[in-house]
Amino acid sequence: MVKAIVGANWGDEGKGKITDMLGQESDIIVRFQGGSNAGHTIINNYGKFALHLLPSGVFYDHTTSVIGNGVALNIPYLFNEIKSLVDRGVPEPKILVSDRAQIMMPYHILFDQYEEERLGGKSFGSTKSGIAPFYSDKYAKIGFQVSELFDEEALREKVERVCELKNVILEHLYHKPALNPDELFNLLIDYRNMVEPYVCDVSAFLHQAMKEGKNILLEGQLGALKDPDFGIYPMVTSSSTLAAYGAIGAGIPAYEIKNVITVAKAYSSAVGAGEFVSEIFGEEADELRRRGGDGGEYGATTGRPRRMGWFDAVATRYGCRMQGATEVALTVLDVLGYLEELPVCVGYEIDGVVTKDFPTTVKLAKAKPVYEVLPGWKQEIRGIKKYEDLPENCRKYIEFIEKEIEVPITLVSNGPGRDEIIKR
Ligand code: GDP
Repeated sequence: MVKAIVGANWGDEGKGKITDMLGQESDIIVRFQGGSNAGHTIINNYGKFALHLLPSGVFYDHTTSVIGNGVALNIPYLFNEIKSLVDRGVPEPKILVSDRAQIMMPYHILFDQYEEERLGGKSFGSTKSGIAPFYSDKYAKIGFQVSELFDEEALREKVERVCELKNVILEHLYHKPALNPDELFNLLIDYRNMVEPYVCDVSAFLHQAMKEGKNILLEGQLGALKDPDFGIYPMVTSSSTLAAYGAIGAGIPAYEIKNVITVAKAYSSAVGAGEFVSEIFGEEADELRRRGGDGGEYGATTGRPRRMGWFDAVATRYGCRMQGATEVALTVLDVLGYLEELPVCVGYEIDGVVTKDFPTTVKLAKAKPVYEVLPGWKQEIRGIKKYEDLPENCRKYIEFIEKEIEVPITLVSNGPGRDEIIKR
């Protein structure tokens, strides 16, 4: 049985917590896209951790953590992340890395920084983890697959060829130091030595696991609105964030993904630039940011303050539809207990016409939010274990959202901890 856990919004919905929780009953947890550019925050019996590249299943000794072929694999980063867990008492996790995963090169990270510098005020708000240059090279067919590390002769030739190309851009566009092919080759040999014990044909491994009836979780990064095709292009990420891509980025048949648990946050937050219709500002935003998430809404990778907004039912319904959501986990509801009233964005007004359909970016830029205002519940809801025990206005808020997004909300998260969850 394969389940995907993905985001309905702009990321940071709390997928890590849901993955960690469902990891209890899983055998294998797979990352299928993205890289170390976004973080999952997980709080469990070992402490509080921010994971960037490892799947959120690494804390269990019964699970295998898999880095699929769709991931941007930063090898030294992976090793530091493993080390940081082991140093804090987490048992050495079982990790497999796809032989078809491509390698994040140091120059991808440099190019990401240089390009953001060059764009100045028009920058994408990249996390500068090298993601866009990485995927550009992958599809331009000048990326390096893990498997290629094991053919030294071909590797040396390719390193020289790629450096020639990169150095023209470094010199003439960015006016930065050139790459040295010998140094790069030696670095890749170091990478090979680090990754070798974990390399495996992940697709074959998962094929066998499915035959044996194992439970597999695909863990998405970011959310539907950051998908390069269906998100707020161009302010998106560079790999697909949709559950459908889980099949490709892990190497399994599309029809195997039976359950798509789509995580939506009870209010909105976003990092980086891009259209954000229900965004709020000033003291109202500051207060939500301060109270939000677990210890405030600040990027897990960059520490940047996140942009804040009210729940956007238009964007979330669309996000759920593009994910193919079979059920929704609504998270961080506990944070909203301080509010007298909760506006929910139920429509976009574009050129005087109200729509409930999430448009392309050009139209989105003109959209103004249409709110319906619900009464607050003015109560702490952490610690509540049963849906019926939630305050009436809180249940009304959940049920209102459920009606708007047209997908059953089966899980309500009312705190950052693994057990702070209400199953409906
Ligand atoms: P992800 O990228 O989707 O995994 O999301 P993040 O982990 O970056 O952001 C979610 C943040 O909210 C983290 O700090 C979590 O610990 C926290 N969190 C998750 N669920 C809840 C919840 O129900 N209540 C509260 N207060 N915090 C939550």
